[in-house]
Amino acid sequence: MVVCASYGMNVGANTMTLAARQVGMSIIPEGKCTFPLRVIETYRPTSIVGSVFKLLNLARRMQAEGIDPGESGVNKLVVGGEAFADESRNYLSEVWGCPVYNTYGSTEGTMCGECSEISGLHVPEDFVHLDVYDPHVKEFVPEGECGRVVLSTLLPVGAKAGTLLLNYDTEDTTVVLTRKKCACGRTHMKILTPQREAETVWVEGTPFNRVDVERGVFQSGNMDFLTGEYEAFLYGAEDEGETLLRVSMECKNPDICDRSLVQENFVRSFLKYKPPLSRAYEDGSFKILFNFAGPRDLELYKIKGRPKRLVDRR
Ligand SMILES: [Zn+2]
Repeated sequence: MVVCASYGMNVGANTMTLAARQVGMSIIPEGKCTFPLRVIETYRPTSIVGSVFKLLNLARRMQAEGIDPGESGVNKLVVGGEAFADESRNYLSEVWGCPVYNTYGSTEGTMCGECSEISGLHVPEDFVHLDVYDPHVKEFVPEGECGRVVLSTLLPVGAKAGTLLLNYDTEDTTVVLTRKKCACGRTHMKILTPQREAETVWVEGTPFNRVDVERGVFQSGNMDFLTGEYEAFLYGAEDEGETLLRVSMECKNPDICDRSLVQENFVRSFLKYKPPLSRAYEDGSFKILFNFAGPRDLELYKIKGRPKRLVDRR
């Protein structure tokens, strides 16, 4: 297994490396996803841990060298580090020709992961107690409702290591899907992939998340023309009567991109289930502007660190 998650204070890379060792798996601890492709050809790893975008980028790098990711011997991918749209997972899975399993972890807290069923993230309840809380009504929410992930760590008797958390507010939102026994045999409860509250913006009284923008980008017809890399900026003030969402998408080749198809797919997906935003779009008080960028022309390439894909500039 190649681990392309950064080793350091973050819990992900270290936890996965230790766990993999315990089940007798060999680890290639790369940390970054920019490793030379001979690692794949020489060691023939069967799985890679990374993020959706890093693994898409790795696939593009391989294709450019004439290596088909689907024929590389990799038969599963483990992703994490950020919420993503189902559409982006499906596309990643298609490119690599193998299943993609999601994980969720916070630096302070714990790791949750999907099992072979891919129907929610199992919470390791013998290590951590997870509650879902609504900060506005100051109550824990009933089962099946959306709220913030609140964690308390559980240490076994006699254990000394670990971060002690008591009702720690992660500022990520989720829904408890089920506490019933899973078809995989595990009894740990399952949650929906948490979304970062900091990545949610409000327009016309309607919230939307970066993931909603991402879903619009990754509509299946679009991916003949796009790489999947995108960034979006929100401008204007509501008291000025106009809000503008500018979406920049990286094209494989801007000259042969079917722009009207991509725009139509984006708008249809983005406004679905958002009637107030849809009305604002129709009466012109909410506008969506598209920018089709060439390879590596997005602003996020100029910024170091984790890219911010939805920027509120109001
Ligand atoms: Zn399961």
